[in-house]
Amino acid sequence: MAKRNGVDRQASGVILLGGGLDSGALLYWLKASGAWIEALWIDYGQKAAFGESVAVGGLCYGLNVPVHRATIDLGDLSQCALLRGQRTNSKNASRKNKLEARNVVFVGLAAMLASSLGLPRVYVGFHQEPAAAPFPDATEDARWMMNELLNFICRPAVSLVAPFKDLSRQEILEAGLKLNPNLASDTFTCYESTTDAECGQCAHCQRKARMLKRVKARTGPECAPPEAHSKRDLLRRRKLAQKQPSV
Ligand SMILES: [Zn+2]
Repeated sequence: MAKRNGVDRQASGVILLGGGLDSGALLYWLKASGAWIEALWIDYGQKAAFGESVAVGGLCYGLNVPVHRATIDLGDLSQCALLRGQRTNSKNASRKNKLEARNVVFVGLAAMLASSLGLPRVYVGFHQEPAAAPFPDATEDARWMMNELLNFICRPAVSLVAPFKDLSRQEILEAGLKLNPNLASDTFTCYESTTDAECGQCAHCQRKARMLKRVKARTGPECAPPEAHSKRDLLRRRKLAQKQPSV
């Protein structure tokens, strides 16, 4: 790959950053690879917008990554439980969290930004997902089709790249922890909380706790990452987020 001033231009791109574990780990991985990366975070009317926004600000400030923020209120278009104004998904039914075609919209916005910045790639934190998964818009088949479309409609072409597509969520977490031991507390996985503290109850919070427990079981408590957002973590993230202006 061509490098100028230590930056890999061909691998440079826009990352769709939600502030969670997968895209957070990907951000660290991309920065370690030497690519120039800019981030796009989208407030689409999700309950967790504040917590995500604080996490994204902190992650990007720490890595010197410019953040672009877009707002599109989807509250009128769906009854998805992720959205503000919708009931708590107390039984954690995945169908209630499904916002149809979400990734098509988000990838389209990221491609728009990548084109305007002259960057050749859009990066997403998709992980290994069977075709019968409840969220088919994050599968490898969907990535391939969206990549074909972006190559066709963007000039110059934009590619959609998912470096973690063959990894499980657990493997992504473990790769991310090697790059940032504080990844668990620097990210925001929750979808029900309207503050910058995770609720600890929703399906995503429960899954994060299970994954961290597995890491702890293998590494021992001394090397284990922080499990939850301590008050100190929260204050640190808020401080970092305030320093990170949007582009
Ligand atoms: Zn939660």
